Amino acid sequence: ARQFTRPLNDLANQFNMILSAVAGAERVFQIMDEEMEAKDESEAREIATLKGEIAFEHVSFSYDQELATLRDVSFHASPGEMVALVGPTGAGKTTIISLLSRFYDADDGVILVDGLDIKKIKRESLRQQMAFVLQDSVLFRTTVRENIRYGNLKATDDEVVEASKRANAHDFIMKLPKGYDTVLSTEGSDLSHGQRQLLSIARAMLADPALLILDEATSSIDTITELKISEALKTLMAGRTSFVIAHRLNTIQNADLIIVLKDGEVIEKGTDQELIERKGFYADLVHAQRQKGAV
Ligand code: ADP
Repeated sequence: ARQFTRPLNDLANQFNMILSAVAGAERVFQIMDEEMEAKDESEAREIATLKGEIAFEHVSFSYDQELATLRDVSFHASPGEMVALVGPTGAGKTTIISLLSRFYDADDGVILVDGLDIKKIKRESLRQQMAFVLQDSVLFRTTVRENIRYGNLKATDDEVVEASKRANAHDFIMKLPKGYDTVLSTEGSDLSHGQRQLLSIARAMLADPALLILDEATSSIDTITELKISEALKTLMAGRTSFVIAHRLNTIQNADLIIVLKDGEVIEKGTDQELIERKGFYADLVHAQRQKGAV
């Protein structure tokens, strides 16, 4: 699972790099090699607000110019839709997110954001419209309040509390020794996995992005916390275009679009119902998970 989440966490760390300078927590984070990143074209422009329409048109990409990691990937998401990425490890799910975050540029094809070629949008400007809720949330050795405020450094204390309430995080925070003033240990190791997720949802709530990237937790979380998380995620995702890297298929039944990837290719796409009726790869996966009792 660690291998799997690595690129996404690198991305998240990069966002936080800027923020960590404020908190003095920079030692926690590795600084990504800037050279690796897709460069802005000279005419790239700022985008103040995004509607969140995303289109991949015949996108191909390879990390090493030899083996294609993504081959001819096409899909369209309207603003506010939930897109689920499904497929075995190594299928290319994370790579799609990396391209969408302009960590890399496509070798072929185009990625359109609100109808604009993604290469024409300033990377920083694009990322200001994105928030990540990942398996291993990036937390700093500072107060709970400041950890949440990373989502939006301009937010007031009241706004932090408001976001925490909407993220179902307020109650557990109030039970911590010093509430919002509780200083987290390194990377929040004194919180449960589920609590860390709730904090990261509160942070994303505060960021109020048009685009949301979610990497579903695979580790076991108690049922009550899990309910709180799924409820909070529902609130968070409302009105935002969301990309969910799904591990458990029961959480994506309501997705507007499910993209099934295998070896870098889209082998099926559609809604849960459409794909079940198709009786293909996705239907088999759902069947297998049900048999294991995971659904
Ligand atoms: P998934 O998220 O579906 O597990 P990834 O997008 O992470 O798949 O990986 C797709 C393929 O690209 C895999 O074969 C993986 O080993 C390879 N890959 C991922 N990241 C890199 C990288 N930074 N450099 C080279 N190859 C990579």
